[in-house]
Amino acid sequence: MHWADVIAKDIIDNYERPLIATGISPTGIIHVGSLREAITGESIRSAVESKGKDVTLIYLIDSFDPLRKRYDFLPEEFDKYVGMPISRIPCPCGKHRNYAHHFVQPFLDAVKSLEVNCDIVWTHELYASGKFTECIDKAITKREDVIRILHEVTGKEAKDDYAPFNPVCKNCGRFATPHFDTYEFPYIEYTCTCGHHGTCDIRSGEGKLTWRLEWPAKWTIFGTSAEPFGKDHAAAGGSYDSGKRIVSEIYGWRAPIPIPYEFVQLKGVGQMHKSLGCPVTGLDAINMTPPEVLNYMFLRVMPSKTIDYDSGLGILDMADEYDRMEAKYFSGSWTESEENSIEAYVIAQHNHVPKSLPLQVPYRHLVSIVQMAPNFNEVLNVLSRTVDLSCATDEDLHRLARRCECVRYWLNGFAPDSVKFSVLQSLPDSIQLSMNEKVYFQALVRRMNDCSWNADEINGIVSQIAKENPIGSKGAYKALYKIFIGKEAGPRLGFFLSSMDKKFVINRLVQASS
Ligand SMILES: [Zn+2]
Ligand SMILES: [Zn+2]
Repeated sequence: MHWADVIAKDIIDNYERPLIATGISPTGIIHVGSLREAITGESIRSAVESKGKDVTLIYLIDSFDPLRKRYDFLPEEFDKYVGMPISRIPCPCGKHRNYAHHFVQPFLDAVKSLEVNCDIVWTHELYASGKFTECIDKAITKREDVIRILHEVTGKEAKDDYAPFNPVCKNCGRFATPHFDTYEFPYIEYTCTCGHHGTCDIRSGEGKLTWRLEWPAKWTIFGTSAEPFGKDHAAAGGSYDSGKRIVSEIYGWRAPIPIPYEFVQLKGVGQMHKSLGCPVTGLDAINMTPPEVLNYMFLRVMPSKTIDYDSGLGILDMADEYDRMEAKYFSGSWTESEENSIEAYVIAQHNHVPKSLPLQVPYRHLVSIVQMAPNFNEVLNVLSRTVDLSCATDEDLHRLARRCECVRYWLNGFAPDSVKFSVLQSLPDSIQLSMNEKVYFQALVRRMNDCSWNADEINGIVSQIAKENPIGSKGAYKALYKIFIGKEAGPRLGFFLSSMDKKFVINRLVQASS
């Protein structure tokens, strides 16, 4: 059984109305790891749903967290916002409602393409609507118990002045220090580093629980049944351990089924975001990996296993593997060791498994075609020379278009130079060609004139004539790449040449051989 099905069964056995929670902290650039959380949550949701159970997935955005420091990617004027809740800080570009929206909205838009079926919840709105009031009251009135629990769980020294809740200062907007001895529901006094002394109404959204208290409060508010979270929270003495006790001993609820996941490691990273100190963002990963492939990538291994996300050639391998598993699934035959990958393929469809094998164009071919065609219509045009598109459904074309967009994004920022090329529209005057090369081209033209224009046949002719001539195979390939793309190496030759117009190819060979 796939791990998502195992967790789904556990949820169904224990919860009447399952709710799965995932979350994100939008204080800065959103990392690829956040994608793992969203996809893990959605996979479990769809696994529960596939067993006939009503289930909700919520996506909690920590929009009331304070800005902890001015990150390198922020302008200097943002110094003045450090310590304020990010929902109240202006967006750095001027186009979004606030700082939190600026960082999370592009990611949320992109997550839609992964078909994550979730309700978005903004934490600052939960505070403003008073949803946390009961938990805040309990955290303050049982503060001594909170301090004892945190000491017992973390092993750290118990601090008498520990604040489970911080009011927002009415003067400067930063989180201030409360005076717990003044608390009388719903008011608590505070002093702020700006010098202001004020009173906070805990029902008003003018204050926030600290993380270790806020997380279990969310479990209580939503009745969360299961939640994926980064393994750092799952460490012994970490916030899941303390949350488990706080939720039962302070708030009177129970902890969700934990789904700790390992980090995502980046490999083969491009130059794009070095200035942001973050080489591949979650948004990049969505933009350059086809959604079905990204879903599959996170599902084929257990959450407890590290995932290497290779933004170089690894993306091509991953797309190939996905297509291979898809073909096997529809062929109905696979080996025992492929069972898990097949299940991952099925769950990656979020209960919308296609009825028959979708149109498959090898991903590497798309990488070449996209570089030969400026837009999707032209891609279809080029593709029609080598692939029968007459049976393509709307879904096939939609997937193909999305894959082309991903390839373009990848080529623009992350692809290694070795895969990049552009077709020379004319033969450069400066080109130097040897007699061997010219003789080879002449022989090619004679045979190509009456061959049928497909990759296999072209490949056969190219290599057969190369063997018959002094140029040899290596020299022949080099010569051909030189006159078509001005490089010594390039895409798979048979497919590449067959993707171009036959007349164009023959004219170029004639020109080069004269
Ligand atoms: Zn903005
Ligand atoms: Zn203040």
